[in-house]
Amino acid sequence: MSTGRVTWISGPVLRAQAQGPFRLREAVRVGDRRLLGEVLRLNENEIVAQVYEDTTGLRPGTEVHGTGVLLGVTLGPGLLGHMFDGLLRPLPGTQISHVEAGMSGTAGREFDFSPALRVGEFAHAGALLGETTNEFGRRQACLVPPDVQGEVVAIRDQGHYPDDVPLCAVRMADGTTREVAMRQFWPVREPRPVRARLPSDTPLLTGQRILDTLFPVALGGKAAIPGGFGTGKTVLLEALAKSCNADVIVYLGCGERGNEMAGVLDEFPRLTDPRSGRPLMERTVIIANTSNMPVAAREASIYSAATVAEYFRDQGLHVALMADSTSRWAEALREVSGRFGELPGEGGYPSYLSSRIAEFYERAARVTTLAGDTGSVTILGSVSPPSGDFSEPVTSHTKRYTRSFWTLDIKRAQARLFPAVHPLQSYSEDSLDLAAWWQQIYAALPPGDAGAPHSAPQSAPIGNEWIELRRRFLTLLDEQARLERMARIIGKDALPARQQLTLFCGELVNEGFLRQSAFSETDRRCGPERQALMMRTLAGFVDGAEAALARGVAPGLISEMAIVRQLQRMGEEIPEGQPQRFAELAKRMAEEFTALGSVPGRQRAA
Ligand code: ADP
Repeated sequence: MSTGRVTWISGPVLRAQAQGPFRLREAVRVGDRRLLGEVLRLNENEIVAQVYEDTTGLRPGTEVHGTGVLLGVTLGPGLLGHMFDGLLRPLPGTQISHVEAGMSGTAGREFDFSPALRVGEFAHAGALLGETTNEFGRRQACLVPPDVQGEVVAIRDQGHYPDDVPLCAVRMADGTTREVAMRQFWPVREPRPVRARLPSDTPLLTGQRILDTLFPVALGGKAAIPGGFGTGKTVLLEALAKSCNADVIVYLGCGERGNEMAGVLDEFPRLTDPRSGRPLMERTVIIANTSNMPVAAREASIYSAATVAEYFRDQGLHVALMADSTSRWAEALREVSGRFGELPGEGGYPSYLSSRIAEFYERAARVTTLAGDTGSVTILGSVSPPSGDFSEPVTSHTKRYTRSFWTLDIKRAQARLFPAVHPLQSYSEDSLDLAAWWQQIYAALPPGDAGAPHSAPQSAPIGNEWIELRRRFLTLLDEQARLERMARIIGKDALPARQQLTLFCGELVNEGFLRQSAFSETDRRCGPERQALMMRTLAGFVDGAEAALARGVAPGLISEMAIVRQLQRMGEEIPEGQPQRFAELAKRMAEEFTALGSVPGRQRAA
C-alpha cells in the first residue's frame, strides 16, 4: 500500500510527501485516528488530499495510508429508515453530532435473504441476486453489483445473514472469483451504470397544484427551487417528501444550520406516509451534513445522496432526491478549493463549479436498469441565492442544468400566499412531454356537469385540455400582474370593466387554485383528478364571467357572487375523491350566472 507523510495542513486540506502509487480520488486514512480523506491532486511525489473529519491536532509528519480504492460508500438493505452523515456513516439516533473519527460505515446487521439464482446459472451485472426483508418488513431486491458478471459457483440457501457476509461467489470472465454480500461498495463520484436512459412522459406528482399543473417535473427530471430565507423552502421540501409519489425519498440536508436540520430530523420520524399510513421514515434515507460538521464531507454528501438514490433506482424504484441546499454545497467546494490555492473564478467559486453542478443534476434520469426494470431518480435541489440575486453563479449555472425552475418569492411569502412559488418567474421545460399524460386524466374525469367547462365559446373543443387551461391560467396571471401595476398608479376603478374583471379572475386563480396550505388536513396534498376538476371549475367561472360581462353585467356584481367564496375555498372544502361536489359547484355557478343576467336594471350598475 502507498503511504505518505503530512508536510502541510490547512483546515481540511493537507499535502503529504508520497511513497508508492496513490491514485486520484483514492480514499486515504490519516494518522492514528484513521481519519478518512480523499486524494484531490497528485504531483510527482506529493499528494494533496481533503479530510472528511476534524483535523484538529494533526501535525506535519503524521502518516497517510492509501486504501487502494476510490472514495466510496457502503450500500445495503439497512439504509431505509436511517440517518447518515455525508459519507453515509450512521448518525446516532436523531442527534446531529460528528460520527466517531475514522469510522468507515454501517456496522454489520442481519437480514433475511432468499436467493433468486442457482449454482451454474449466469449472473448478469445488475441482475436480481435475491431478496431481503428489512427491519420494517419491506422487501428489497439484492442485486449483482454492476461490476460483477459470470457463472454462479456458490450461493447460500434462504436464511438470516449479516449483511457483510458473502452470499454468492461468481466466476468472472478473467477466471477470478468475486464474492458478493448484501452490503456493497460503490465509489460516490461515479454514476451507477444503466442499460438505457429513457425519455420521460410521466410526471413526478408532488401534490402541490402550482407545481403539478403549472410547472410539472417529470419522473427522472430535475428541478431547482431558488428562494431566500423565509420563503418556505424547508416547508415545501418537507411537503414534497410527504406527498410526492416517489417510492423512496432521499433527503439531503446540506450545510443548513444545525438547529434547522435538528427540526427536520426531529420531525421526519413522526411523519406518517399518506400512502400506507405507516411512518414515512420507512421509505426515507436522510443524509445530514450541517454547517457545524466538517466542510469537506459536505462537498461529498451530494454525491453520496445521488449514489444512494441510484442504488434504489437500480431496484426498479422511483426515487426523489431532495437536496437542501445546493448553495451550501457550492460554498464547501469554494472553501476547499481556496484552501489548496486554486485560482478563484466567478464569485470566488472554482472554475469547475459549473461542471460539478451539471454532473450532479445529470444523475437524475428515468432509466431501464441493468436488470431490465424501469426506475428513476428525480432531483429537487434548493438554491439560496444571497440577497435574492439570481444572477449569482450557483443559481445561474443551476438554471442551465435543470428543467423545472420553481422560484420562491418573498413577497408572496409575506402575503402568506403559500406555497410561495412565483407563477411568472417559474417555468417547466417538461410540460410538453407530460401533456399526453395529463390529457388522460382530463379524459377520464366524470362526464356531464362534473366541473365540465361552462358553456361558452372560449372552451370549444380543444386538442389538449390541460395545455389549453394551463396557457389560459398563465396568461391570466400575467395580465393580472400587469394590471395590478397599472391599478396602483391610476386606481382600480379607473380601469375599463374588462380589465377589472381580468384583475379579479387573476386574484381568484391565486386564491382558489395556487394557494395551498401545507398544514391543511384536506388540502396539503392534491391529486391530479382534483387539480383538473378545480382547474375546470375555475375556467368555467372565467367563461361565465366573461359571458356575463358581454351581456353588460358590471364586474362589481360578478365579484360579489356568492359562488366566489366557495371557489376560493374549494381546495379546503372539497376533499379527494368527491368529484360530484365539483359537479354541484358547477351547477350552482351556472344557476347564479343565469340569475345574474336576468336581474333587470342591475346589469349596468356601477
Ligand atoms: P425557509 O426554509 O425558506 O427559510 P420555511 O420553510 O421555514 O422558510 O418557512 C417559513 C414559514 O412560512 C413557516 O414556518 C410557515 O409558517 C410558513 N410556510 C411556508 N410554507 C408554507 C406552506 N406551504 N403552507 C403554509 N405555510 C407555509
